[in-house]
Amino acid sequence: MIEIIQTDITTLKVDAIVNAANTSLLGGGGVDGAIHCAAGPELLVFNKTLGGCEVGQVKLAPGFNLEAKWVIHTVGPVWQGGIQGEAELLRWCYINALELAVRKSFGEIAFPAISTGIYGFPIEPAAKIALTAMKKYEHNFTRIIACCFSLADADVYQALLD
Ligand code: ADP
Repeated sequence: MIEIIQTDITTLKVDAIVNAANTSLLGGGGVDGAIHCAAGPELLVFNKTLGGCEVGQVKLAPGFNLEAKWVIHTVGPVWQGGIQGEAELLRWCYINALELAVRKSFGEIAFPAISTGIYGFPIEPAAKIALTAMKKYEHNFTRIIACCFSLADADVYQALLD
């Protein structure tokens, strides 16, 4: 069952948390900044070996000082009004992260609301894309978590799930 929770994703003790990173993978604001801060400087050192990440793609890193064992970096699309394939690219973020997690036999995974912060993707369509992808892979995981930072976002997810 998909769990919708409102918390700081860096506090979650799961196999993998997903990071809404940028293409450089060298750190940024929002959830990316929080994850780098909690993981410690080793994450940045490691990420320098990854050669960046394309929009919609994923790269795997250890969790270092995080509670989570692994970080799946993905890069969401920047919202440009919805006519630049943003929805499809966002869907690929979720699908590629879930496929990677299945390949690695991760039993627990938590996602932030990718692209809905600094990148400006509207929360409702973004949540719909997230939940649709998560539903499809639900059976592969013991825990699959939509981790919302705000109560308002969690309410949107919950309403869609209901
Ligand atoms: P993007 O650049 O992909 O929009 P952001 O980090 O700006 O990434 O925002 C993505 C989502 O992550 C937003 O809903 C934001 O509120 C949320 N967020 C920010 N910090 C955290 C955190 N520590 N834990 C979980 N979610 C967070």
